[in-house]
Amino acid sequence: DVRLRKDKWVTDYYVVSQLLGKGKFGEVKQVKERRTGNQLAAKFIDVNGPQDKKDIENEVEIMKLLQHPRLLQLYDAFENKNTVCIVTELVSGGELFERVINDDFILTEKACVMFMRQICEGVAFMHNQRVLHLDIKPENILCVTREGNRVKIIDFGLARKYNPREDLRVLFGTPEFVAPEVVNFDPIAPATDMWSVGVVCYVLLSGLSPFMGDTEQETLSNVTSATWDFNAEEFDSISKEAKDFISKLLVKDPRKRMSATDCLDHQWLRRSVKREGVPERSLSKKRLRKFVYRRKWQKAINAMLALRRMGVTLS
Ligand code: ATP
Repeated sequence: DVRLRKDKWVTDYYVVSQLLGKGKFGEVKQVKERRTGNQLAAKFIDVNGPQDKKDIENEVEIMKLLQHPRLLQLYDAFENKNTVCIVTELVSGGELFERVINDDFILTEKACVMFMRQICEGVAFMHNQRVLHLDIKPENILCVTREGNRVKIIDFGLARKYNPREDLRVLFGTPEFVAPEVVNFDPIAPATDMWSVGVVCYVLLSGLSPFMGDTEQETLSNVTSATWDFNAEEFDSISKEAKDFISKLLVKDPRKRMSATDCLDHQWLRRSVKREGVPERSLSKKRLRKFVYRRKWQKAINAMLALRRMGVTLS
């Protein structure tokens, strides 16, 4: 049982090494456990006030409920006056989308099935534990290793415990991936994550972002009207099963969306379905590369704007 330790600090048990990534809330660094030599990851989060503290305690409590191979596993947690440190397993294969745009990766619909199935397995477990992730997007799906094809869902910083009898509403998320009920500040449910799963699947297959507008407002308005289609030529070579799968997720009414378990039973993801006869054409990566580069730019811009808000100027 992992407990948030206040009497010790991470450096008492771990040697901190290189930076793995930066997020809105802090830095993630690689660490080595002194006792075992195990390589792990540590997320350092700045605490500013009691609300931050509650949010981080929430993240730790939620991660404890999520012991599953498709979800990032909690290992240890520390807190001192200004910082909380969450030690998790190390996921060293990088972001899924960066992996699939590499020249040495052959992107086929079958590969997408393999990734989407794993994502749905992770989400199904999470929803069974009555946890909503609420920030499912490509950046939060990492490959376990550089070579293998296993993936894991990370970042439970916005996750919430869900009680079907209570009315839960939130006002956050990433415009391109967020469900209409979030934008409208209507009650949310496990189906809210399934919308995002549908968007991730749409982008993975085509490189196109279904709701992206020229401005954030336009994007959000495309989301709330749930206007999207398969008209782009990128979808010409996509199977009707894949399109059916997406069509049953990008549904405005959350009660009519497939659940994660429904997804695993859907023809497109079911293991028993024989796909040998289907020619495995490689999908074009041109659009997906553009998508990944655009998201990276966006992240850099957001980081700069955040610094500016704090009064730091970059020369
Ligand atoms: P965001 O701004 O995306 O909400 P965050 O502050 O909540 O970020 P995370 O998403 O948890 O932070 O981590 C930031 C980045 O660090 C990730 O995108 C990923 O590249 C890297 N990272 C996080 N956890 C791990 C891990 N366990 N192993 C390897 N890299 C990781």
